[in-house]
Amino acid sequence: MGPIELNKRQEEILEIVKGNGPITGEHIAERLNLTRATLRPDLAILTMAGFLDARPRVGYFYSGKKAGQDLSESVMNMKVKDFQSIPVVVSEKVSVYDAIAQMFLEDVGTLFVVNEQSLLTGVLSRKDLLRSSIGNKEISKIPVHIIMTRMPNITYCFKHDPLLHVAKKLIEKQIDALPVVAEHENGLEVIGRITKTNITAAFLSLAENHDL
Ligand code: ADP
Repeated sequence: MGPIELNKRQEEILEIVKGNGPITGEHIAERLNLTRATLRPDLAILTMAGFLDARPRVGYFYSGKKAGQDLSESVMNMKVKDFQSIPVVVSEKVSVYDAIAQMFLEDVGTLFVVNEQSLLTGVLSRKDLLRSSIGNKEISKIPVHIIMTRMPNITYCFKHDPLLHVAKKLIEKQIDALPVVAEHENGLEVIGRITKTNITAAFLSLAENHDL
């Protein structure tokens, strides 16, 4: 069964309860200049469909359930922390060769580079590693800090950021991943990773939660 279609009066009731709930059936009727009896079937439908909850002597309130939650509300409720993956970090001193090995071993497309204090200093993408490998036989002697994209040119995010803002950054900067960071006195600690795959998974969960 697809999402249920609400009629105009049911939509009005929903708006009233969203803005004023908990509210009694009597008061909803008053606001609409209708009798309580006229509203009864609409209230029953809204309650059965899960848009409203009813409590004796308290009244009706908006359930906030997925059926009633609008899409834009759900989108803004998706936060980085709910979709982030574990970051894979390497030291600035490791060689390009070892970084490539690490990328295969951990099955990721982006590595984050940290200094001795474990603070973020760089990013390595697949193409960064490919570029430095082409025609270069000495990649076990080149440290990654020579080829990485470095601070302050790194795009990052925080765990409480809306996922939508991260999606926008990924597209605008034409990159595949962002480190999730926590601020420290001397720099940024890497605590997570958000990639296009995480955004795709979030997109899918949204569709599932809205029965699309
Ligand atoms: P690929 O180069 O494998 O297609 P990306 O599109 O992610 O992967 O990377 C493109 C370039 O942007 C690379 O040089 C990489 O170092 C850099 N880059 C990747 N992620 C970031 C980031 N979060 N902030 C800044 N630069 C990044």
